[in-house]
Amino acid sequence: MHDDEWDSLNSQIMTCTRCRLSESRTNAVPGEGPVPCPIMMIGEAPGEKEDQQGRPFVGRAGTVLNRFLEETGLPRDEVFITSIVKCRPPKNRDPKEDEIHSCSGHLDRQIAHIKPRVIVPMGRFAAGVIFSRFGIGGGKISEVHGKLFRGAFDGDEVMIFPVYHPAVVTHNPPLRSELAGDFARLKEMLSRINR
Ligand code: SF4
Repeated sequence: MHDDEWDSLNSQIMTCTRCRLSESRTNAVPGEGPVPCPIMMIGEAPGEKEDQQGRPFVGRAGTVLNRFLEETGLPRDEVFITSIVKCRPPKNRDPKEDEIHSCSGHLDRQIAHIKPRVIVPMGRFAAGVIFSRFGIGGGKISEVHGKLFRGAFDGDEVMIFPVYHPAVVTHNPPLRSELAGDFARLKEMLSRINR
């Protein structure tokens, strides 16, 4: 059920001009999925297709993500999918520190509404930002992926479970089995917390 505050947050994101990324975007991409939702998956930033369509993970990485979700038995429409910054950085460069900071209020308000039990940052970049947000000492994605960390949001415990970014399958095919392992562990963990 989406309430007025949630609709207002989405409108604010879609018309946001808090940082320079608003100047080059076609569409801001707030994210999509149920609200509230036990699992929130967070990528780095929208890419070209996402910018064109205003929806998260609809490009090549999205196809890989959909396949892994399907193989893992997690319907895409049962997870909330978004990114650290909601607008596409030019030429898909990494978001800058001030852009992340400007967009962090949107992400925090989303988390407050979605109330996830598990946050799944996808890839090195998102994992670094989420670790820092929750005051967790991180590490390289090759060391932290598929492991469970615990944080707190508004006094409630939230689990942080970083995975490799789905795009690794195209950039670094040998990591496919690592990504598959991450999703299998994620599913196992979700079934445990849902018992
Ligand atoms: S990236 Fe975030 S802060 Fe920057 S304009 Fe887009 S929605 Fe606003």
